[in-house]
Amino acid sequence: MIEPFQPDQAEYLRDESRRTGTADLLAFPRTEEDVRAVLAKARAARMPVTVQGARTGITGGAVPDGGLVLNLSKMEAIRPDGDTLVVQPGATLAAIRAAVPAGHFFAPDPTETTASIGGMISCNASGALSFLHGPTRNHIAGLRVATIGGELLDLRRSRDRAAGYSFRLGSLAGELPVLPRPAVKNAAGYYVEPDMDLLDLFIGAEGTLGVVTEATVRLLPAPAAVWGLMAFLPDTAGVVGFVNALRAEQRPEARGPRPGTENPVSRARLAAIEYFDSRALDFLRAHADVLATRNISVPAMPAGTACLYAEWHAPDEDAAEAAVLAAAERLGECGADPDAAILADHPREIEKLKLLRHAVPELVNSAIDDRRKIHPGLVKLGTDMSVPDARLGDVLALYESDLAAAGLEHLVFGHIGANHLHVNILPRHPADYETGKALYARWAAQIIAWGGSISAEHGIGKLKRDLFRQMAGDAAIQRMRDLKKLFDPAFLLNPGTLFESR
Ligand SMILES: Cc1cc2nc3c(=O)[nH]c(=O)nc-3n(C[C@H](O)[C@H](O)[C@H](O)COP(=O)(O)OP(=O)(O)OC[C@H]3O[C@@H](n4cnc5c(N)ncnc54)[C@H](O)[C@@H]3O)c2cc1C
Repeated sequence: MIEPFQPDQAEYLRDESRRTGTADLLAFPRTEEDVRAVLAKARAARMPVTVQGARTGITGGAVPDGGLVLNLSKMEAIRPDGDTLVVQPGATLAAIRAAVPAGHFFAPDPTETTASIGGMISCNASGALSFLHGPTRNHIAGLRVATIGGELLDLRRSRDRAAGYSFRLGSLAGELPVLPRPAVKNAAGYYVEPDMDLLDLFIGAEGTLGVVTEATVRLLPAPAAVWGLMAFLPDTAGVVGFVNALRAEQRPEARGPRPGTENPVSRARLAAIEYFDSRALDFLRAHADVLATRNISVPAMPAGTACLYAEWHAPDEDAAEAAVLAAAERLGECGADPDAAILADHPREIEKLKLLRHAVPELVNSAIDDRRKIHPGLVKLGTDMSVPDARLGDVLALYESDLAAAGLEHLVFGHIGANHLHVNILPRHPADYETGKALYARWAAQIIAWGGSISAEHGIGKLKRDLFRQMAGDAAIQRMRDLKKLFDPAFLLNPGTLFESR
């Protein structure tokens, strides 16, 4: 099962960060026992192991720096079990969705549907619907995890918990560290809480504590009606105003039936608020012919505007319609033309808008690939930072003014409902890349000072260690290293991910 690495297997040396590594051995386990056997061999040989799911990660976490690549893509079985699915780690999001029984749905929705569930769990991936349903963590009921020390952990939510900060897992016992965590959407570093469900330790740990060999994922009842609205706003003030109006409507005190009336709006739940800046819309327009070949059509969108996409889930069509109409009524006061808004009142229309959303990062990646033909070292600079609600306008203004001053080609999109935006800088040459990197560092320092996070969904991997250290501080990083040592004393599993291996 463990084979020497072959030159024609170069795809296993990279992920979507386009970073390229090296490897000596490659293994494709098919069962949990296979995984344990590979880990035992690596432990005996003191060989580093890099775990891979589908390699759609964009932080270099699945990119090996020598040693053995443990690729889980052939462990892809899915078994329904009541209102859960029991899945092997290599099952893709697309395959999981296809296996969901009628009347249910699996809420985590990173836009990259070829991602594996093992990778989604390890990065605690999120997507547009995380605004309502939270990230992958919220939908995991059980995990089986193999450690490189030889333990096989079978963890259930609500059953296997820490006592305060003390924990016992198989023959392992210890104290969990107290770690700082910003009060924003966050995917940076280990998740620790007193009395926590111990499976949460492994969710978002980026494969540094153990290998997920099986997961039990929770399904939700599918909403009866799903409606979306694409609105076009003239400026940042309008964008922030509309986001705040939508969020205010969602607050519990703004919902609930008014005395003596039934308020249909209150029966719909706002599920997502997504953002595309005007450059992202221009980018889509400019690639309309490429997108047409993939059956994705770019709708007519007013020039010079940014776009907000909001989605409501409701128990019936009336409630969904009422929510969308109530939102559309607020557009005028945010400077938008309500008649230019695009309504999606059918799953087919919603799907079209989602394909459009996914096309943005994909087109950026292709554009960078083209530029690499001239400058092979060039990579995309993509941010993944989140800020508190009160800083949304500030962060949008910061990005805009810095990028305009630097003259960098860029676009901004993302999960604006959680104040979580992706700035994508498309360097034309290495000097652009250096300028962009300096801006990225400046923004990270400001966002940390505002109480934000330098990673809200993609994780740290090997590319954001410095920013992570800056955010968490040396003492917290040391406490995380100490926690890892309990599970992996020789630092063999995913070395170099989250923090330096030495
Ligand atoms: C176009 C595009 C759009 C994207 N959109 C989103 C988005 O909307 N939201 C989002 O959150 N992410 C997004 N991503 C990033 C990526 O898809 C997610 O991070 C995803 O969760 C990675 O899954 P994967 O299977 O590809 O993991 P990989 O890239 O293979 O690995 C990611 C990390 O998980 C570890 N790992 C993988 N499997 C296991 C396992 N079984 N046990 C232990 N560790 C494991 C790896 O070692 C690595 O550290 C996007 C990526 C692309 C290219």
